Amino acid sequence: MNFLKRSLKPISFVFALSVATAATGQTQAQTERFETLVELYQAATIVGVPSIADCTLSGGEETHCMKITVVAAPSDHITGPYCPTSITDTAEEGGKWFVDGEVRDVDGAFIANLSEIYDDEEWQMFDPETGDVYVRANEIGCIVAGDPNNETDQPSNICVDCGLAFIGRTVTQTYFIPLDPVAVSEVSDRIGPNSGIGLAFNGAKFDAPAPLDLILGGHTLGPFDDCTGHINPYSGYHYHGVTEGCGARVDAAIEGHAAQIGVAMDGHDIYDRLDLDGTQAADLDACRGHEVEGLGYHYHVNPTADNQIIGCFAAETGCSISDADGMCDATDSGRPPRP
Ligand SMILES: [Zn+2]
Ligand SMILES: [Zn+2]
Repeated sequence: MNFLKRSLKPISFVFALSVATAATGQTQAQTERFETLVELYQAATIVGVPSIADCTLSGGEETHCMKITVVAAPSDHITGPYCPTSITDTAEEGGKWFVDGEVRDVDGAFIANLSEIYDDEEWQMFDPETGDVYVRANEIGCIVAGDPNNETDQPSNICVDCGLAFIGRTVTQTYFIPLDPVAVSEVSDRIGPNSGIGLAFNGAKFDAPAPLDLILGGHTLGPFDDCTGHINPYSGYHYHGVTEGCGARVDAAIEGHAAQIGVAMDGHDIYDRLDLDGTQAADLDACRGHEVEGLGYHYHVNPTADNQIIGCFAAETGCSISDADGMCDATDSGRPPRP
């Protein structure tokens, strides 16, 4: 079932390549990169028309970005389920969670065994008499998903389940992705708390690591679905890991190389973890990037359960914002990470 109505795409794609751009002074290389990116994102549910816009990157560099607004949901796979409703539910009825570097099924047994899994007696996320899981779904699930410290006075030991239909509006995200990456002099491992990591070709965000400690400390779970993504009212659907078979892939320009899955917030391309022969490149740097003739510098994602999609940014990052009419000043940061 694809619940996204294709009619959300209001303007035909061909217009995007011929549109007059808002910024001036971009180089020929930046214009060509823009045209390449617009083509790569044809799988996303684009709102309006992508453009070349002025942007101020995280290190203060003023440059040109692709500005693209997308419906913040994957265009090519279903979302959910997240929380099982009973401790007898199977893996098909629940989602996934990261435990100690592994992707675990959040089935009924997982909920039943939380106190053992985390060696913490305070976990009790089900009714001991009925086996019903304490789920907060629908509107309240989305409120809690957006802000664990909300004012609805929820108890701990709840499984938070926010579906796109219950946010009450269509969530869009507007991305400013640098057209010409500007290398940083010193990489930071504080990765993407504001901008996220990047944009998948299907329109979903590659997000910063989920704050697992914060979530677990509150004895609350916000499980991912089988594509290791979930939803909050700000970012819409977003991934905390890259899962094989989830989302659009584009063949690399080099035979045998891993497929491309999106672009990072610093403008470098993001590829699947493994090359087509099942091996991982041996020369990846701390950011999980390397330079390859014909592909330039690019990233390969971490294993899914690492809860960190790439290692760090090698270049200054752009912006992802909720306001489609907003500007990008990535030096203006400091909001706390969101679930
Ligand atoms: Zn590579
Ligand atoms: Zn999240």
